[in-house]
Parts: sequence; C-alpha cells; structure tokens
Amino acid sequence: MDKKQSKKVGFSAAYLVVAILLASLFQELVFRPLVIRWTEVPYSQFLKQLEAGEIAEVTLTADRIMYTCCGDTGQPPRVNNVVRVEDPDLIQRLVDAGVTFSGKAPTNALLPALLGWIIPMLPLGLIWYFGMRRMGQTGMDVLSIGKSKAQEITGEKTGIKFEDVGGVEEVAVELKEIIDFLKDPERFTRLGAKLPKGVLLVGPPGTGKTLLAKATAGEAGVPFFSISGSDFVEMFVGVGAARVRDLFEQAKRRAPCIVFIDEIDAIGQSRVTVGAIGSNDEREQTLNQLLSEMDGFQPNQGVIIMAATNRPEILDRALLRPGRFDRQIQVGLPTEAGRRQILNIHTKNVQLAQDVDLDRVAQITAGFSGADLANIVNEAALLAVRAGRDAVTMGDFDLAIERVVAGLQRKITLKPELKRRVAYHEAGHALVAQVQPDTDPVHKVSIIPTAKGALGYTLQMPEEDIYLMSKRELEERLAVMLGGRAAELLIFNDTSTGAANDLEVVTGLARRMVTEFGMTEALGPVRYAMEAGTGYLGRPDMLRQDISPETATLIDKETRRIIEEAQQRAVALLRQHIDALHEIARILQEKEVISGEEIKRLVQKPTQLTESVG
Ligand code: ADP
Ligand code: MG
Ligand code: ZN
Repeated sequence: MDKKQSKKVGFSAAYLVVAILLASLFQELVFRPLVIRWTEVPYSQFLKQLEAGEIAEVTLTADRIMYTCCGDTGQPPRVNNVVRVEDPDLIQRLVDAGVTFSGKAPTNALLPALLGWIIPMLPLGLIWYFGMRRMGQTGMDVLSIGKSKAQEITGEKTGIKFEDVGGVEEVAVELKEIIDFLKDPERFTRLGAKLPKGVLLVGPPGTGKTLLAKATAGEAGVPFFSISGSDFVEMFVGVGAARVRDLFEQAKRRAPCIVFIDEIDAIGQSRVTVGAIGSNDEREQTLNQLLSEMDGFQPNQGVIIMAATNRPEILDRALLRPGRFDRQIQVGLPTEAGRRQILNIHTKNVQLAQDVDLDRVAQITAGFSGADLANIVNEAALLAVRAGRDAVTMGDFDLAIERVVAGLQRKITLKPELKRRVAYHEAGHALVAQVQPDTDPVHKVSIIPTAKGALGYTLQMPEEDIYLMSKRELEERLAVMLGGRAAELLIFNDTSTGAANDLEVVTGLARRMVTEFGMTEALGPVRYAMEAGTGYLGRPDMLRQDISPETATLIDKETRRIIEEAQQRAVALLRQHIDALHEIARILQEKEVISGEEIKRLVQKPTQLTESVG
C-alpha cells in the first residue's frame, strides 16, 4: 500500500514540475515576444531621446509612458517604458517634438501574462485529469482520498488458522462463539441470540492480537477488512471519518465478515486525556464516526468488529459501552507451554540440528512475546546461514536469545532459583487472599515478568479502589499484600527486595487507616491527615500542621502495629496451609500461571462472614 502511495505522490510531483517547465518555456519563446518586448528606461533618457527626435510614437497612461523609437525595426517593436514623473510641460514637449501620441486607459500586462500561463496548461491539465481517472479505476485516485484504505483479504486467502497461533487456547475458546456466528448468522438470529458487536483484544505488543483476528476470519472463512488506527491519522480533517464510513459500507455489503481495527488507541484515545494541546478535531471526528457506525447497524447484520490495543486504559469510555466493544479478551504473554507451541510454529520450516532443545528455549524465555520468539528463531537461522551451516544449532539459539534479550533489555530470563522465589512470593499473596473470608477471590496468579518490570503478579477481582470497606476487610487486604513477603520469610527464612512495592502500598494503606479512617483505639475517630486535595502536590497522606510531635509519633507507632499484626496474620495463615503453599508454588514454577479455580480446588475459601459491600 505504501508503495502505491509514494508512486502516486511521485507521479503528481513530477507532473507538476514538467508542467511548470513547459509553461515557462512557452512563455519565453512564444508568448512574451508576441505580447511585448519591454525595456524600462529613466525619464531623463526619454527626454533626451524626445529632444533628439528619436521617438516615433508615444502612449500615455495615468502613471506610465510607453514609446517606440524611430530606428527600431524589430517585430514587434521594442516598447520603452518610463515611469511618468510629475511634469506639467510633458504635453507641450510632445507637441513640440511632433511625435504621434495618444492616451490609454490603465490596463496592465496581467491578462496577457495570465493567458500565457493558462493556455499551455490546458492540454496538460486534460492529460492529468484523464490519467487520474484511469488510475481511479485501479484504486489509486487522488480524488478518492477519503475512500477506505482497508485492504480486503478474504479469510480463505490469508489461510491463517488457530493452529498458526500458539499458546492461545483460552482466547480461541472465547472466539469460538464469534466464529460459529459468522459461519451461520441465520441460526443465531433465528434463536434471537444476541452477540457482541465488538470484540476488543487487549494485550502487550507482539502477543499475536493481529494474528488472532486474522485467524478468526480464517476459521470462519469470511472476508477480513483490516485497518490500523494510525492510518486514520491523516492531515485532512474529515478524511478519517469518511474512511470509517466507507469501511463500514464495504463491510456491510460483504457480510458476514470481520472488520478489524488495529491499534485502536490511535483514534480511540480518551477525549479527556488528550488535553487541549493542539487540535484533535480529526481524531475526535473519526472516533465519533466509528461510534455512530457501531451504533448504526444491527448485530444480526453479520458484521463483527474486532479491535486490538495494548493500552486499554487510555481508551475513551464511550468505546467500551454496551453495544460497542463490550467484550474484552485478554491476550497475555505466553506461558512456557505457549512459548513451546509458538516455537514449534515458527520452526516448522527451519532445519534444526540434533542438539536443539526447544523445551529449554521455552523454559528460559519467560516474559517473551510471540513476536520476540519469532524473532529469536529468525535470528538463529540467520546466524546459521552466516556460519555456512545447513542446520540451526542450539548454539545459534543461545546467541540469538542473548541478542534479543540485549535488544529488549527489560526482559529478564529467570534463573531457576529466582523463579522459585518469585513463585513462593506470589503463591503467598494468592494463598492469603484465598483463605481469608472477606477478601476478593483470586482471579489469576502469574510469574511471567511483566513489561512494567514486575516479576509476577496476583490478580484479584475486583480491583477497584476502596469505596466502602470495613476495618476487617482492610486488615485482610494488608495481610494479602504482606503474604508475598511472609512466604519468603517462611520458606527462605529471609526477605528480598521484591516486596518493596508491596510495602509501599501496605504502609500507605495502614497510615490511612490511622489518619483518615479513625480505625485505631489509641488515636480515635479523628482525622489527622490534611484535607484531601491540599498538602504537597495534593497528597492526602500529609499530616495536618497542627499535630503535636507526640501524636505524630503515636501515628507512626500505630501504623507499624497494624502492619506487624497483618504480617503475623499472613505468616500464621501460610503456616496453617503450608501444603497448599508448596503446591501453588510448584504449579507456578512449572506453568508460570495458575487460575483462581485451580487455587480454589487446592484450598476452599471459608464462608463469607460479612456481606460484601461497595
Ligand atoms: P500484536 O498484534 O499483538 O502486536 P502480532 O499479531 O502483530 O502481534 O504479532 C507479530 C508477529 O509475531 C506475528 O506475525 C507472528 O509471526 C508472531 N507472533 C506473535 N504472537 C504469536 C503467537 N501467539 N503464535 C505465533 N506467532 C506469533
Ligand atoms: Mg499488531
Ligand atoms: Zn508482592
């Protein structure tokens, strides 16, 4: 597509240059001599020539004098041009000299000059116009700049199937329904079943979101229209919106089909977060058009809109509303098994030496995306070619991994000992969450390093902020956050820097319990924190100015007591369920992720003691 684009630009630019050159040539050689041969002379010279009787004919305008000379036989004669100065004797002088003179209304040479440009341009313009029209039929028309750039590749043609995407079983299951629908929309509409209009694939870059969308179309065997959000960012206002309209028009005609908007964050960025710097009219118009198109068609029309982003948090809320991208599918970094599959897919056509151990490659590449792995295979193959080998060796893989790691920097290959520590840390969080009655259930635990630099994470649902939580719930939350450190203490009899972030959150929360929520006996129901929004940078954890040093000390002491109690509680709970702790950590080391259901199977959650609120 880029090639076509640049050809088009190159074409018109070259055309313009030729046209201007031709026109100038025409001006110089043909038109100019026809119109005038023209010399500026000073008034004094005019007077001298007049007195000397050298002047044949004079034409006067309001501000100019034009004259020809007697001796000039040029065809047409040269016109001398004088700026008319204030000279009351001019007419007398002309009469005395006996030359023919006449006046003329002040026209200038603009019209002839213009004609001199326009006439030669005409044929060029015609050629250009017809040329463009012909190109328009092949889809390169400048005049149709608003037409959608979406390429249509039919699913059958891409031939991409789920088997070409590794480590996405869960995602494939979620997409299954969409595929069934696209295969036979009638069946769904007959039963009155409602399907999501939009599916948003969310995940870090290079995890195969684009590939998955193509595979969905491929599996269903329907046309696949794709466009990237960054394509919409055009310089002309209105073009993006026109493209969206056109894209949906095309898609509706070819239903059932998939419309895929890659990098939707480029247009779907929250209108609030963009701020007021510069005009974002274009992006906003495009977004509005997209929203109205999505609202404008019925789910049973057989068009499924898929989109991908790696920054869901910046998306405009409006996009995520029901009836739009109301289904989100997480496409995470691959697990060890997933990485193994991806390596399989990408080495299918690569000659591997006997010593290559893809299991090991998968093992040591925690945190690598599918794209990183594809990159490693390619890099290894290149190394083998360069060395003149006819098969890729394990040495090539090791070097390739090193290179990719160096290129990515952030990504860390977890050594087994470190992996074990991270596994116990996260297992500690998860287990404490699981065995307390009022804590949100664990959704998923992972020890795949994240792009943000965390070595692992425990995902609890829901994760929203503290709206209304009882003291006991807060204490449980503290214990969960200290669970990682507690597990390290218990198993390794030692703590690590990995808990620094946990401690930061814990300390902040415990302090708020003391200074904002009035949850200690010793300090009572008094607010010690500054008013929200005041204090340094609006930080609510600053203490009021009028607090005595003794009270401040007491606040610190109480905060510490709360944290220590929570830690003891965490340690006690882990001791009590030590077998489960070992088991969760073992599964994590093996598979890198463990689901909430699996944890539930290992330890039953005690019955809820309080109604959950908020
Ligand atoms: P995303 O859209 O999530 O950024 P892409 O789908 O563009 O990722 O992936 C880029 C390339 O990386 C793909 O073309 C493919 O070669 C490889 N890749 C990424 N994820 C996978 C996967 N799960 N299985 C196989 N190949 C993958
Ligand atoms: Mg992509
Ligand atoms: Zn932690």
